[in-house]
Amino acid sequence: MTKCGYVAIIGRPNVGKSTLLNTLIGQKISIISSKPQTTRQQILGIQTIQSVQIIYIDTPGLHHAGKRAINRYMNRLASAVIPDANAVLFMIEATRFHEEDERILQQISNYSVPVILVINKIDKLKDKKLILPLIEQYKEKFNFLHIVPISAERAENIDSLQKTLISLMPEGPYLFPEEQITDKDLSFQAAEIIREKLIRLTGQELPYSTTVVVESIKEQNNLLNINAVIWVEREGQKPIVIGKAGERLKKIGTAARKEIVKLIGKKIFLRLWVKVKSDWTDDERALGSLGLK
Ligand code: GDP
Ligand code: MG
Repeated sequence: MTKCGYVAIIGRPNVGKSTLLNTLIGQKISIISSKPQTTRQQILGIQTIQSVQIIYIDTPGLHHAGKRAINRYMNRLASAVIPDANAVLFMIEATRFHEEDERILQQISNYSVPVILVINKIDKLKDKKLILPLIEQYKEKFNFLHIVPISAERAENIDSLQKTLISLMPEGPYLFPEEQITDKDLSFQAAEIIREKLIRLTGQELPYSTTVVVESIKEQNNLLNINAVIWVEREGQKPIVIGKAGERLKKIGTAARKEIVKLIGKKIFLRLWVKVKSDWTDDERALGSLGLK
């Protein structure tokens, strides 16, 4: 008899949710950056081991109600996954206590689902004992099923976390083929890779609302032609992406191309365009048209 279930990874932006998902699956399927709100859509990571299939849901960070449509969207998304989950990984950072963590924990406590406290980034602690007061503090706040300190980046204590999760999955048939590791197709993954490079190479200059849409993927003479559009909010943001004499856009394209090639093991030709879509974050219909709804 096989087992299969959902695990939701929930936590404040930047605690390391996407890094954990990639470490668990052993391959990069969710993009990572030091800039909060990098993960904008829900991403499934699928892992099948020892007759157990675990479907992880990487969520955008839960937020206090933001004014803009994209924030509302993210709230809806994050709270929608908890009721269906067989376990919730509530992630915090070992190095600091944040008010927002507490608000998220309150949200989670509205549901009757087993919650595991995952304390990430233990590699940043000078002394591992420093974690003990944090554990004590959290034990008083909520009845966690387990408390697991990890380093998602260095894959420390991931096995122990995995074992715990395996034990929590209910009996049932697999929902995905054994070899599948994500629910996203190539055009989504390519767009996410481009967006990651865009965020890396533009730093704080560009708002997180910038989006990337892959418009076409066509195979021609053993070469995959990918056309993608980087949508910015205002005309003034175009030069930030393009750079002097197109220098920056070229760098973004080169970095993204290398990674897409690694992912699919095929030669590609990547063409990037920058277009302006004014105020799309304030317009839910525009979100829909960008495939974000
Ligand atoms: P998310 O917003 O919760 O998905 O967080 P990300 O996975 O995008 O990670 C945010 C930042 O934290 C990135 O710069 C990661 O490299 C970093 N990070 C994630 N896990 C660890 C860890 O275990 N140790 C350290 N030192 N940094 C980490
Ligand atoms: Mg993320």
